[in-house]
Amino acid sequence: MNYCGQSPVHLAIETQNLAVISVILDYTDAEALHTIDNRGRYSIDYATRPGNHTKGAQVDCGGCKVLELLLQSDTALFPASLLLGLKPSRNCIQGHKILIKGLAERREKLKQLAYQTLSPAERQGLQVHPARILDQNATRVRHQLEARGCPIPMSLKGYAENTGSSRVQKLIYSHICSGEVAEYAHQLGFHYSDNELADFVSILATRMSSNSVHEYRYINNPFSFSYFFWMIDHCTSVSSRIPAGQLPSPHIEVTPAHYFMGSLGASANRNRGWTPDCSLTLAALEIAFSETNVDRCRCWCSPGGCIPLVKLLEGICWSKRPITFSSGRSLSQATEEVITGLFSAHMGKISEYQWIYVAIIRHYTSVMLGLRHACCSIIENASGPLPEEEYREIEEEDSFLLGLLESLLTEFECERRNDMRLEDFFAWMRSVWALRMREVGQELASQRLTDQQLQDAEAIGVVLRVHGPPPMGSGSNSRVVELTEGDLWDAMDELDKIATDPERPTKGSLETHT
Ligand SMILES: [Zn+2]
Ligand SMILES: [Zn+2]
Ligand SMILES: [Zn+2]
Repeated sequence: MNYCGQSPVHLAIETQNLAVISVILDYTDAEALHTIDNRGRYSIDYATRPGNHTKGAQVDCGGCKVLELLLQSDTALFPASLLLGLKPSRNCIQGHKILIKGLAERREKLKQLAYQTLSPAERQGLQVHPARILDQNATRVRHQLEARGCPIPMSLKGYAENTGSSRVQKLIYSHICSGEVAEYAHQLGFHYSDNELADFVSILATRMSSNSVHEYRYINNPFSFSYFFWMIDHCTSVSSRIPAGQLPSPHIEVTPAHYFMGSLGASANRNRGWTPDCSLTLAALEIAFSETNVDRCRCWCSPGGCIPLVKLLEGICWSKRPITFSSGRSLSQATEEVITGLFSAHMGKISEYQWIYVAIIRHYTSVMLGLRHACCSIIENASGPLPEEEYREIEEEDSFLLGLLESLLTEFECERRNDMRLEDFFAWMRSVWALRMREVGQELASQRLTDQQLQDAEAIGVVLRVHGPPPMGSGSNSRVVELTEGDLWDAMDELDKIATDPERPTKGSLETHT
């Protein structure tokens, strides 16, 4: 090993020279093949580096030949390598397929061992199915084989010896990001049904609701349009509620379509100037913009309940946080990009979907006024709708703002033309709505309490005069801090896209220092 912890295999892959790599592989033992460098990377991780693959030109990608060669050796495919290699920003589509094939071959060999060693009853208990490739059950099968004293070659072990962790053993479909790769995995024999969809959404939901920086990064890699269509084609339950107990909060009652839209919205920042990987089919458009697929939430942001569009807007607000009265333009821009992308193949349909304009204006106006949500939340700290009692409390406490919301919405409805195209609507949003909201912000900030209101407040014990500096974390200062922090972590993510560095401080590690 050199000072970077690299083995001859790591270095051979760096050369991208097939002759050199095959000679080195001929003389390599399992230990050298599974050495990790100082940054925790296996040789296979070098072979999936984005720089080694040619995006688009799939037939003659040199990086893919190296990857194939390496997978023909006894290299194990650890979950972390799989997760890394299947990221949309790494590798190429062909490379993703090569990885899936390598995994399928390894899992097939493991299944053969199960047929040789385990009884039919044991296999049935482990859900080993002759026509299916082992997936989430692979770890359990391996443990059972080991318990029976069956020697398992290193290449069939799906987890690293040193960590012994099976925590990241997840459904292959939860690593996949495109319809083409999903279809390939399906053809190879990885089973897919409504159960797998529910598992997939459950994993996605946990990641989206987490506030750890690693999971946060995942939100920036949403699954793609093509993958969404593929799911619609292969499942019946894209618009059905996810079974209770599979979501971060038992009170959330939404469907996979809501999560698709939420994840799309949350990655709005990342998607600046992005083009979807295919256009939405009409069936998918109807699912994404369904008016009837609602939960039982009641909220001023969406009085009829949460439809998938509401979750898209929730995601966009999350990605643009903190929202102030001057966020109008950036909200409108992000929303225009995503919605135009979704409608791209069906622009003519927009006349049937004029209601989305009302929904967008209502949602953003209520968020900008600072009204608390009473509906469920699926991004960062997921929660169900507020209980009736709290709903009533907010209704009472914020009655002034709620009144203002309704009068603003009436004002906007009177001003907006009927039957607008998408571009006209977003132009109106920027020129009229965003400016008006800024004005509202200024009006609210300059509002003074009347003498009577001051006396009433003091009578119930409110202290109105504070001497000395304002308390920490209050007022405009905290906004500045939040803004800078958000930008910093965005920048960190950008850096990670260029070169991943496990030693770069994470949000969590910094927080423990401060
Ligand atoms: Zn490639
Ligand atoms: Zn709400
Ligand atoms: Zn809801």
